Amino acid sequence: MIAPEYQRPKGTRDVIAPESWQFEAMRRLALDLAARYGYDPIETPIFEQSPVFLRVGESTDIVQHESYRFVDVGGDDLTLRPEGTAAVARAYVQLGLATAPQPVRLCYFGPMFRRERPAAGRYRQHTQFGVECYGSEAPEADAEVILLAMQVVDAAGLKDPQVRLNSLGCAVCRPRYREALIAYYTDRRSELCDDCQVRLNQNPLRLLDCKVDVGIRQQAPDIQDYWCDGCRTHFDRLTGILAASGRHVTRDKHLVRGLDYYTRTVFEVGHPSLGDQVALFGGGRYDGLTASLGGPSVPAVGFGMGIERLLSALPQALATPEPRRVYCAHLPGFAERAFLLAEALRRQGIAAEADILNRSLKAQLKDAGRRASVAVIVGGQEWDQGQVVVKDLAAGRQITVDRTELLTYLAADGEEQEDSRNT
Ligand SMILES: [Zn+2]
Ligand SMILES: [Zn+2]
Repeated sequence: MIAPEYQRPKGTRDVIAPESWQFEAMRRLALDLAARYGYDPIETPIFEQSPVFLRVGESTDIVQHESYRFVDVGGDDLTLRPEGTAAVARAYVQLGLATAPQPVRLCYFGPMFRRERPAAGRYRQHTQFGVECYGSEAPEADAEVILLAMQVVDAAGLKDPQVRLNSLGCAVCRPRYREALIAYYTDRRSELCDDCQVRLNQNPLRLLDCKVDVGIRQQAPDIQDYWCDGCRTHFDRLTGILAASGRHVTRDKHLVRGLDYYTRTVFEVGHPSLGDQVALFGGGRYDGLTASLGGPSVPAVGFGMGIERLLSALPQALATPEPRRVYCAHLPGFAERAFLLAEALRRQGIAAEADILNRSLKAQLKDAGRRASVAVIVGGQEWDQGQVVVKDLAAGRQITVDRTELLTYLAADGEEQEDSRNT
């Protein structure tokens, strides 16, 4: 037991093997697929000056109630990043990436921090994979990030992910819709839940998010009746491309997403196995974001994917990069030789371990069964004759191999195992 004051903070987790290998496998899978689409990884600090997040999400719950905001001993007002998009936008402006050849395609995989109410599957530190495509307002850019998102979900083992899509309009058409929405909800003010009373004043689009007042939102004005020609063409072309690529997408007129900075496209990715209304993650277009940080106005589109949530939804574990290990066990008096053999194997690219607890051969082999797939026994009569016993721990077989042949034997055996695992 550990004293309460030393326990990990509420809503956080320690992740150990084999689950930690699942995270690593997911990271590689995501970054590899992103690279296939031309996205380079970007690392930004996990904290920013608070105005970065305040500027781009002033009326959202995340920034108002859930951020880890603190003043450090030097008096700087800092916030642990609650999401990736604002931080990447800040970097894009600060690094002058607007003057680099466009589009600029960036991706990230790392921790995000939100002081959420404790609930199953919700963590105050969670991992997000996200991509940001800067410099194109064409619907092809939206299609590219959506298709990439779907490939990641597909490759992780949730086949045929589904996308719900909407357009929130632009600076030309959204204000008219907003007015119509406010007028509609103001007439029904007395029927609204407490949250919606607040939303009506602060963030009317999010009235459509309400899971309580569903009857009222059914009859609410539909934004597609307010889209300008530019927004309508953009949306139609995007859905056309996605359909032509063979992906299943549907329009959801109530989809608005939680963050304020979206323009035009918003989307959520789900899977039939999770039910109709459950989203794995989402994203959208945010053409005004760089300008709101004082930079040039650059169109952009992206998504952020919660990795804990995705991993927990997978029907089976990912193939992990955990290597096949060789355990160098020793007879009494041969501990150092076993230790040095393990090191020699590692130098040849073979994952190996030796006993560092000074145990009996029996205890070593028992341990080897938990840690390795093959044991090499160092010492005894075979050793004197220039040989070693190699034990296949899963199959229980053992053979005697010349010491000079050991490396070749283990390498070939490893490849064989790899082949049988892949077929
Ligand atoms: Zn518009
Ligand atoms: Zn409501």
